[in-house]
Amino acid sequence: MICMRRPELLAMLHAQVSEKSICVAHNCTGITTAGAKVAVEFAAQDARTFDAVIGADGAKSLVRSYVTGVTQEPVYRGYSIWCGVVVCDPGDDSSNRIQEIWGSGRRFGILPIGKNALCWYATDTRGKTQEDSADNRKLELLNLFTGWPSPIPEIIRATPPRDILKNGAADLGLRGPWFKHRVTIIGDAAHPLTPNVGQGCCLALEDSLVLSLALQKTGEVERAFQLFGPARRKRVAAIVRATRWIGSVGQSRSKAAVFIRDQLLPAFLPLVFELAVRPIHRYDATKPFS
Ligand SMILES: Cc1cc2nc3c(=O)[nH]c(=O)nc-3n(C[C@H](O)[C@H](O)[C@H](O)COP(=O)(O)OP(=O)(O)OC[C@H]3O[C@@H](n4cnc5c(N)ncnc54)[C@H](O)[C@@H]3O)c2cc1C
Repeated sequence: MICMRRPELLAMLHAQVSEKSICVAHNCTGITTAGAKVAVEFAAQDARTFDAVIGADGAKSLVRSYVTGVTQEPVYRGYSIWCGVVVCDPGDDSSNRIQEIWGSGRRFGILPIGKNALCWYATDTRGKTQEDSADNRKLELLNLFTGWPSPIPEIIRATPPRDILKNGAADLGLRGPWFKHRVTIIGDAAHPLTPNVGQGCCLALEDSLVLSLALQKTGEVERAFQLFGPARRKRVAAIVRATRWIGSVGQSRSKAAVFIRDQLLPAFLPLVFELAVRPIHRYDATKPFS
């Protein structure tokens, strides 16, 4: 497994594309069919027509609303997630191993990302995820994880408040088709998922590879868009199910459920890993149609 920061990944992808082909600050506000083309409207720029559109506009995708004909927000799954990146020496071997520590309705994960940097995340089961200020976020986290083993409190304390993000865990399952006419969706736009197996970004990258292979194979946009969805659905569905399941087991607050989980999971962890996680890592995105 390779863990890296999003800006580093974006810089690597950016380096492969000509500067002229990227237009930033184009907030898409509408999509319509224009004969054999697609018309796209923007908030502060003139509308333009394209031969085809690939919507990679994230979990609250506007392009998904066009493709499916309905506007659906991802469904909240009952817990908040904070994440941050910090450069620190935790004083133990945390800087070279991936860890996740489970409590009652709470989890804390640590991922080394090189150069003494750690990416961490924390979760807490709650009815709603509310907006708050960066300072309050850090204070709340310190309270929630008081008494948790070292280096958890140290890592939270060392993270600047502005570097702590908070989200609600949400997903949408696999709804409707992923294309209409000459418009398709990929990544979180097609399949927003909870982050428990750390695969959302990976799925988005796989989607783009499979879509490009479909375009090479068919040489025609609509046929490629048609081929893309069925080639991806089984894999994506398995990951959406696995991550939702891990979230519900990991976030349980029932005393009995936590007791049974903590007694059984250590014994069955190798089996769970073999059945649920290993197949995720074995997938070969370069052969999607075989
Ligand atoms: C706490 C947390 C931890 C995670 N950890 C991992 C992990 O370890 N590994 C992993 O693989 N994944 C992880 N994920 C999931 C990952 O972040 C997402 O699955 C991934 O970012 C999806 O990529 P995307 O390109 O489809 O969408 P996004 O990254 O959401 O990008 C969408 C882009 O579209 C833009 N946009 C949106 N609407 C419009 C519009 N109308 N017009 C123009 N532009 C628009 C947005 O500004 C944004 O730049 C995590 C997610 C969370 C919340």
